[in-house]
Amino acid sequence: MEHYWEKAQQLIPGGVNSPVRSFKGVGGSPFFARQGEGPYLEDEEGRRYIDYVMSYGPLILGHAHPAVVNAASAQAVKGLSYGVPTVLEVEMAELLTQAVPGLEMVRMVNSGTEATMSAIRVSRGVTGRSRIVKFAGSYHGHGDSLLVKAGSGAAAMGIPDSQGVPMALAELTLTVPYNDIEGLKAVFSRFGHEIAAVISEPVAGNMGTVLPSEEFLATIRHLTRQAGALWIVDEVMTGFRVDWGGASRLFGLEPDLVCLAKVIGGGMPVGAYGGKRDYMEQVAPLGPVYQAGTLSGNPVAMAVGLAQLRTIGGPQFYPPLVERTRTLATGLVEAGKRHGIAVSANTIGAMFTLFFRESAPHNFDEVNASDRARYTRFFHGMLEEGIFFPPSPFETAFPSAAHNDETTQATLEAAERVFARI
Ligand SMILES: *Cc1c(COP(=O)(O)O)cnc(C)c1O
Repeated sequence: MEHYWEKAQQLIPGGVNSPVRSFKGVGGSPFFARQGEGPYLEDEEGRRYIDYVMSYGPLILGHAHPAVVNAASAQAVKGLSYGVPTVLEVEMAELLTQAVPGLEMVRMVNSGTEATMSAIRVSRGVTGRSRIVKFAGSYHGHGDSLLVKAGSGAAAMGIPDSQGVPMALAELTLTVPYNDIEGLKAVFSRFGHEIAAVISEPVAGNMGTVLPSEEFLATIRHLTRQAGALWIVDEVMTGFRVDWGGASRLFGLEPDLVCLAKVIGGGMPVGAYGGKRDYMEQVAPLGPVYQAGTLSGNPVAMAVGLAQLRTIGGPQFYPPLVERTRTLATGLVEAGKRHGIAVSANTIGAMFTLFFRESAPHNFDEVNASDRARYTRFFHGMLEEGIFFPPSPFETAFPSAAHNDETTQATLEAAERVFARI
């Protein structure tokens, strides 16, 4: 496979089509996947891994679930795209609006990035305002307005977090630490009447899993309402992952706009955004906010997403998966402690992250204060044991319904050996 990796690096930036797949942070080169089956991912050399990356979230039923892959092939033979509406799109819209709080109307897109970019545009369109607020350590895809980090000083203008993002756009994005109620209040007291929307991950998953405080969530809702701004709840990762519907249903949130992707696509390139009817009626062709997509609502993608969501079936699917996730996270922390390692975990639904620090973090600064070098040793140690964790300490691990007692046992036994030498 060295030949292909050489070639990949010549032909594709960094050899990968998304930076998270690179092993740049941990050293070494990624393996090439040949096939997946249930909780296992097999590489081109025939090595089999227990997979906790799971395509970064979509595969909540495991790899190649029969109901999901059969839906893909059954639709594929009837054509891959039509350019006119299908019943599948209506069925998807109906399922999503019934399951997700606040989702009265929904538009399908092709990725999470597209969903958040579009939701931001709607929020600006309906409020006639330009500023948005996001939280440090959150990720909402690679849209220009969202690749922004905090400037210096409290409530300062944002600065680009990537070359190629215009300063003029970055300035419109204000960044507040996650769970920082006072910081959010300060931003609203200074800019409230200029803010189109607050966008937040209802549970942060892209700095590793970090849980919101109830008061933090309540404060976002209160301040946005008071200021006439919208709350965009980005459930791209958490939607149908922490519970049926998502974190909004689990926490009883009242979002104005919601973004979805990952699990709702079952492994196909799918995203969705929607929310209150009044807002979504502003989207073209009904209203003046333009958004479109040649392949949006693609029939194969809809068939696959529907098959996955229907196999999940409802809230009763989640408790065993939540239990397995918790057992795993707790077991890993206990194993680490037995070896004198400072380690903690955050877990919710079917998401967890192990942090090499004494107590579980509440924001990005605390996440950053964990031992990254030790994570790297953990990652490589586990990989040698045939267990695939994300190659970054800032990612979430995703157990699926295909994981079982055997994979949990094997993971904990491997961790015991790895912790002994890291
Ligand atoms: C993955 C993710 C995105 C981006 O989705 P893509 O499909 O990768 O474009 C946006 N928001 C959150 C919370 C995510 O986890």
